[in-house]
Amino acid sequence: MNIQPIASHYIDGAYVEDTAGDLIEVIYPYTGKVIARLHAATPAIVDQALNAAKRAQKEWAGWTGTQRGRVLRRAADIMRERNHDLSVLETYDTGKPYQETSVADATSGADAFEYFGGLAGSITGEHIPLGENFVYTRREPLGVCVGIGAWNYPTQIACWKGAPALACGNALVFKPSETTPLCALKIAEILTEAGAPAGLYNVVQGYGAVGAALVTDPRVDKVSLTGSVATGRKVYAAAAEGLRHVTMELGGKSPLVIFDDADLEAAVSGAILGNFYSAGQVCSNGTRVFVQKGIKDAFLARLTDRLQAVVMGDPQDPATHYGPMVSAAQRDIVEGFIAKGQAEGARLVTGGTRPDMAGFFLAPTVFADVTDDMTIAREEIFGPVMSVLDFDTEAEALRRANDTPYGLAAGVFTADLARAHRMAAGFQAGTCYINTYNDAPVEAPFGGMKLSGVGRENSKAAIDHYSQIKSVFVRMDRCEAPF
Ligand code: NDP
Repeated sequence: MNIQPIASHYIDGAYVEDTAGDLIEVIYPYTGKVIARLHAATPAIVDQALNAAKRAQKEWAGWTGTQRGRVLRRAADIMRERNHDLSVLETYDTGKPYQETSVADATSGADAFEYFGGLAGSITGEHIPLGENFVYTRREPLGVCVGIGAWNYPTQIACWKGAPALACGNALVFKPSETTPLCALKIAEILTEAGAPAGLYNVVQGYGAVGAALVTDPRVDKVSLTGSVATGRKVYAAAAEGLRHVTMELGGKSPLVIFDDADLEAAVSGAILGNFYSAGQVCSNGTRVFVQKGIKDAFLARLTDRLQAVVMGDPQDPATHYGPMVSAAQRDIVEGFIAKGQAEGARLVTGGTRPDMAGFFLAPTVFADVTDDMTIAREEIFGPVMSVLDFDTEAEALRRANDTPYGLAAGVFTADLARAHRMAAGFQAGTCYINTYNDAPVEAPFGGMKLSGVGRENSKAAIDHYSQIKSVFVRMDRCEAPF
């Protein structure tokens, strides 16, 4: 497989290069070696992409919803046919194991194109009768949307933003994280092949400065960011200057509450999925695991036992469960948190070290006896570090679970269904899980409360965030004035 793309950017239906842009070296996290060299977009490239998007959007908005949907559904089919190659590339870009990428990345992106392709023909306004007069509403596209992605799910993020944007009649300029710039280019290629007009879906590479230039450009109507809260604050403020629409999918420090009556094996599975999938680099992870005192010892024993069975190694080997972290820098950040956890008195149960192998690996790490005030219980770590905290009562667990400025996700494991629903109702989080963790089907809204974000991705809710309503008042009787 040729990892080096034809060129850095994809604009107006074709690959485009401008070597004047800053160098971006793509490093394979398993070997630490450079696998591709790209260039950040120069102002001329940004200009070219926005002009192409502006032009293509006008044409695309004139297509019927069914015609637009057909293109998106074709793109979904192509993605499924090429799932193997797209998954291999996602693994090179991120280091996540093929065992995950082959079922969670291009497949999730294809789901988004299929789902929004199916909805495209049903994106309509309504008729509001007012006696003999009436109002009808038109649901119109916003125009040119900008998507800015994080590095943990480069294919999925490119599709989760692209599919609803395009279904609603918008064009998109997408800027991937410079850490994982390869996958979005393939999505752009596939959309062209599926029949999207040139310029409808463009990819420009770059560091934060390129994202910042896109966010404030007068040609841009909407910005959708997946990233950290710190970046979210900056991007939201910059977008506000032009009163642009925004979707902010930001970080979290989500709680996972396990009651004494929970199915132990299922609860351990939930905690593993919610902490160590993608080497812990998942925004919705349930990293504060509150375990009721009666089940705590059994939970820790079974968890430690099961973590011994993890297969770490070559992420392209389908037998590997667990890959390296995305970069040396991210691993350093996580190791800093592990040191703080130990310094602040948490008990290291397992992990905390680099396994003896090449690549940016960090062993799955579990701390017990964590208290609410410790840094590892308060700040987003974005790595394979689970904090286990004890609790006695339901009311206490709920209060402590919500005692965070974040509100992305929350989960509960219990056999008591009434209690499970009480907890879900009480959680201050955009996505809640009962006896499961981290499912993200395209049919369900996804997004955060509090500092974790604004707006929702996926589901019919995303349509509201990629379109606007125009009311048209129609008078059937005579228009009169008092003077
Ligand atoms: P960052 O916030 O560092 O970056 C996100 C994107 O924003 C990158 O493409 C980055 O470019 C770009 N960017 C940085 N500064 C600016 C700016 N001033 N203006 C415009 N764009 C800018 O996040 P990470 O890539 O490190 O991703 C990890 C974070 O993402 C975590 O906090 C995680 O929780 C969150 N996340 C949230 C998800 C959700 O759906 N809620 C899902 C996945 C991750 P560059 O990388 O070149 O600096």
